[in-house]
Amino acid sequence: MAKKHFVIPIFIPHSGCPFQCIFCDQQKITGVKKEPLPREIDKKITDYLSTIKDRARSVRIAFYGGSFTGLPVKTQVSFLKIAKKYLDSKEIIAVRVSTRPDYIDKKILFRLKRFGVSEIELGIQSFSDEVLSSSQRGYTCAQAISASILIRRHGFLLGHQLMIGLPGDSWAHIKETAKICVSLKPDMIRIYPTLVMENTYLSYMTDYKALSLQEAIEKSAYLINLFQSKKIRILRVGLHPPQDKSVIKSGPFHESFKFLVLSKIWENFLVNIKKDNRRKKIISLYSSFNDFDKIIGYKGKNKEIFDCPVKKVPWLCNGYIIINFDNGKTKVYRLKFY
Ligand code: SF4
Repeated sequence: MAKKHFVIPIFIPHSGCPFQCIFCDQQKITGVKKEPLPREIDKKITDYLSTIKDRARSVRIAFYGGSFTGLPVKTQVSFLKIAKKYLDSKEIIAVRVSTRPDYIDKKILFRLKRFGVSEIELGIQSFSDEVLSSSQRGYTCAQAISASILIRRHGFLLGHQLMIGLPGDSWAHIKETAKICVSLKPDMIRIYPTLVMENTYLSYMTDYKALSLQEAIEKSAYLINLFQSKKIRILRVGLHPPQDKSVIKSGPFHESFKFLVLSKIWENFLVNIKKDNRRKKIISLYSSFNDFDKIIGYKGKNKEIFDCPVKKVPWLCNGYIIINFDNGKTKVYRLKFY
């Protein structure tokens, strides 16, 4: 039986971070106002575990929202001891932390390893020094590369969090960032289009223009295609909706952002098929159950590409479509995305 995966998220909003990146308000994003106490973390994990009924399960604990390795060592250790207790009792299979690239060194990695941490996500955002500097990230591309190499060399799983649309960002920077990212072989990726949150530095910048929703979709689709082709797992695309959405002042926010990006990838794929078969008329198209909605697109947008019925069939694998042409021929196509 396939195992179900669960992540118990522990938010430590802005803790351990003396910086102020221009887009950041972790408290508003996570809805968590203060750093939890160790006993609160312990209780949260126990409570969460008690809600998981599946016997075939794999559970990990993840510390998000701040710079874990920037916390006072004593605090890190008190949090990690709790997580390790659940690792030792085999109730969880992994502990993940997220942090900044400049808060990684050998000593830090040894400590994390000692307490059973096996996965580290780095808030990279961009590998362009220009973008990093204009976002006041406080580290350089070279530091982000060194931290990534060090993490992999010490046997941790590596995650990269990327942001698109920061001040100074461009297609060229995104492509360069993606190229460097791929060369560092992260195991997992998160992609976030930049949103302007209330009372952040960014919200006061009159010369900043956020990406349009369409631009963010196109850029994210490019990144996903590339990372999937390199077998890098995509953990998230687009910000998890905050509890109070009114804190988002502008930017390409959409509740179904990932769906829109996946639909865009299908749209591009279908347009290319149509171009390659411009002399033929498509009379029917079959998809898997899972892909059907993405092929149809948001509000049926992709239906404009084909003037034919799209039917879902239960036996077709994800990523495959079957097309019948008016010359009597049938072709199977595969979107190399899965
Ligand atoms: S490093 Fe992370 S937590 Fe610190 S200000 Fe920047 S985004 Fe926020």
